[in-house]
Amino acid sequence: MKRLLSIALLMLLSAAALGAWHHDSQAIMGTRVHAEFWHQNPVEADRLLNAVMAEMRRIDAGYSPYIETSELSRLNRAAVNGWVTVSDEMLDLLQRSRRVSELTDGAFDVTYASVGRYYDYRQARRPDDEQVRLALAAIDYRHVELDAAATRVRYARPEVYVDLGGIAKGYAVDRAMGILRQAGVTQASISAGGDSYILGDRRGQPWTVGIRAPRDQDAMAAVLPLTDTAVSTSGDYERFFEQDGVRYHHILDPGTGEAVRESWSVTILGPDTTFTDALSTSVFVLGPKQGLALIDRLPGVDAIIIDAHGRLHYSRDLAPMLPPGR
Ligand code: ADP
Ligand code: MG
Repeated sequence: MKRLLSIALLMLLSAAALGAWHHDSQAIMGTRVHAEFWHQNPVEADRLLNAVMAEMRRIDAGYSPYIETSELSRLNRAAVNGWVTVSDEMLDLLQRSRRVSELTDGAFDVTYASVGRYYDYRQARRPDDEQVRLALAAIDYRHVELDAAATRVRYARPEVYVDLGGIAKGYAVDRAMGILRQAGVTQASISAGGDSYILGDRRGQPWTVGIRAPRDQDAMAAVLPLTDTAVSTSGDYERFFEQDGVRYHHILDPGTGEAVRESWSVTILGPDTTFTDALSTSVFVLGPKQGLALIDRLPGVDAIIIDAHGRLHYSRDLAPMLPPGR
């Protein structure tokens, strides 16, 4: 009996030495942050989970426009009056945003918030036509002037207002994944709302990431088996309200200041989550046709779009692997 017990104990110990899954899920950045990875050492794993969540909180505290003391809030208050010295990280985020704006012909534009700031989705509040008209002229990524040499930023017009909501969650996922990689982790998944990175596989099997059915809370439109990839989904069901049968949601066309109605959801696969996050918002704005034309020009990037009729569209490289779409 005693021997049996010690054999059982030995087996337990060796199982622990091989490793185990560690995970945590917390409400950060106005969404659900989830991290999961395989690690041999439970103490070190705990430390890493804390570091991942702390990094997410740090990015929220720095770049949320809803936090008065964030660097972004300070920039929004001051840059309309002249040059403001910013952190290297802020400059980097604004530069990355600008590159996506250039790539997408302005479909992605962090100054969308010059109009977007007047929406309150929880209170079902939206700007009136006059407010939109006045603020619309302020939407143009070129109004955010970047002086990289001096690490400073200035807004060209007084109505300019920046929100990094279309890119910050993806960036946070990449930063958090960097912490795990640095620590030698080779199998992990980190997500912040609809933005994820999948590292390695799941003990020999691919990870699975679901794409929600846009008009059915509990259903999946597709389940993707994935390894080593970034994946981001933008949907018109994330933040919205309805008035007189019209859905006012959180992805705005920088040209009109209005919610874009061509798609229900856009999923992008690519090399890093900062890029897929910004691209999912961009392709949502561009619509299925122009959006897929862009994605098909980008090596290593794929898209799955559910349009406003519920029809599926895939980028060229995915089409052979998935059920008939476009
Ligand atoms: P989420 O993960 O919050 O659903 P998405 O990746 O779908 O985010 O991006 C939507 C967010 O992007 C909005 O909440 C807003 O902060 C921002 N946004 C909306 N329209 C644009 C736009 N045209 N360009 C850049 N950012 C935008
Ligand atoms: Mg996005």
